[in-house]
Amino acid sequence: YDLAVNGVRQLVPYVAGKPIEELERELGLTDIVKLASNENPLGPGKKALAAIQATLPKLTLYPDGNGFSLKSALAKKYKVNADQITLGNGSNELLELVARAFLAPGLEAMFSEHAFAVYPIVTQAVGATAAIIPALHYGNDLAAMAARVSAKTRVIFIANPNNPTGTLLRQADLQRFVSSLPGHCLCVLDEAYFEFVDNKEGINSLDWLLANPNLIITRTFSKAYGLAGLRVGYSLSSPEIADILNRVRQPFNNNALALAAAEAALADGDYLQQTIATNTQGMQDLTIGFKGLGLEWIPSAGNFVSVDLKRPGQPIYEALLRLGVIVRPVANYGLPNHLRISIGTPAENQFFLKALADTLANV
Ligand code: PMP
Repeated sequence: YDLAVNGVRQLVPYVAGKPIEELERELGLTDIVKLASNENPLGPGKKALAAIQATLPKLTLYPDGNGFSLKSALAKKYKVNADQITLGNGSNELLELVARAFLAPGLEAMFSEHAFAVYPIVTQAVGATAAIIPALHYGNDLAAMAARVSAKTRVIFIANPNNPTGTLLRQADLQRFVSSLPGHCLCVLDEAYFEFVDNKEGINSLDWLLANPNLIITRTFSKAYGLAGLRVGYSLSSPEIADILNRVRQPFNNNALALAAAEAALADGDYLQQTIATNTQGMQDLTIGFKGLGLEWIPSAGNFVSVDLKRPGQPIYEALLRLGVIVRPVANYGLPNHLRISIGTPAENQFFLKALADTLANV
């Protein structure tokens, strides 16, 4: 459509998976196992559901447009001030707010090869250009990124762990990188999966947030907190950056159910622990299964793992679909021979492994 501005006309939209119900109808199957969108296989926690229930009678009112209560709970948990927090409709919205506030035609965003698909979308949508830096061992090559920073580079998107490869940067390297950036260049550290990172490896980016005024950390309730359908994310930054993001934010960008559920989920330590234990066990089960099938995978710090099939992933994806398992082809991420598998429940993981073994034997 010619009236759309140039950058937008050339955009390749994010392709989300089909709803399970539609696929079940199409394939004539029931009980499809979906391991495709890095969701929490446990379902929402009881505390989050109770908070939703308690909020239902208040739905004629607008939600709290400043998210006071959720921000206070986040501030307390992470020992930051509430004015350092910005809430978004999923952490995707925070990425978009950053692009709208800090990018424009003539300016540049930088991110890695195999990086999250939303970075190019938000960049192009505001007419900025993207500098895509070749990956190092499937992850962000910080030295190559630092070397490419120019006067035009205003935002660098780094996911840690990275989706879809699951690679994790060392905190010392990341800190050195962020503190070496020139003042005109912001770093968005996308920690959508940080809760899954093994504590021993540690993520301590919050400790150096204050010392790095050009750092924006984004996190989400979609993954470890199991609330992807409600769309709640947040950023942690300097108050100055939070103030700018708030200026471009829609009022009431988080609905009342989402705000209440997120706050309850944040206080539900048991659910989080159970989620992490399920993930750790599931990652182990899947990788043992891959090994048994003679397959290699990219070691992942997230709640998903990309397995190398050494042949095009698309036909295997389609064969798995016919057996009732949805996984994620990642050819559009520059990984045509990989499939990304989200960690499921023990039963889902075994169902997938059996389907994969059958498929590889027959395709
Ligand atoms: N960042 C990364 C790296 C992701 O993988 C995702 C989810 N796929 C998001 C951000 C966005 O998640 P949400 O908008 O649900 O918070």
